[in-house]
Amino acid sequence: MFIAFEGLDGSGSSTQTRMLVERLERTNHPALLTAEPTSHPTGRMIRDILQHKFEVAPETLQLLYTADRAEHLRLDILPAQKEGKTVVTSRYLFSTIAFGSYGVPDIEWLKQLNRLYPLPDLTFLFKLDPEECMRRIQVRGEALELFEKAEKLRAIWKTYEILAQQYPNFHVIDASKSIDEIADMIWGIVEKKLD
Ligand code: ADP
Ligand code: MG
Repeated sequence: MFIAFEGLDGSGSSTQTRMLVERLERTNHPALLTAEPTSHPTGRMIRDILQHKFEVAPETLQLLYTADRAEHLRLDILPAQKEGKTVVTSRYLFSTIAFGSYGVPDIEWLKQLNRLYPLPDLTFLFKLDPEECMRRIQVRGEALELFEKAEKLRAIWKTYEILAQQYPNFHVIDASKSIDEIADMIWGIVEKKLD
């Protein structure tokens, strides 16, 4: 099984990927916890750009995310699946489409770039107000910057919600609930899909 977690930064998705993998392993389901961008050379390039070490066009950044995904599949996801593991990834191709659409408004182009890649069997989309996301990651800044940031996150969220309608096997998770409540909700859905 292949499970992806998606959402805005600070929505709590990484916390839940860890909890799900722990629970899978405790119940004797070998699992791989993984994430994008990867730690492979393609992923390191993306991190360098995000840390402003060099600048690229928005299209370049999305092409890099998409290239990094090919390496993620080749080096991590597909080998783990071959070994019979459940793969749990923090971010996958819906991140490219939702976040990418902010800098590259042609969503069809972003979708086409990713059309060769397998879709997850389950995608958990974490729904949380952008302001609350920012509070959780303790972003500090001027009022205007905060406002602009929230506007940007709202636009990204809107694309995520459209994707949740267009693609199969999406579960929108109310991420304002407690960590344990969310973990139980997710486990309820995953457990039904395990054999
Ligand atoms: P993401 O990976 O989506 O950016 P994280 O899992 O790293 O989010 O969580 C961001 C912060 O929010 C962390 O400090 C985490 O402990 C906290 N957090 C995660 N889930 C919850 C929750 N359900 N309620 C309150 N705080 C949470
Ligand atoms: Mg995270």
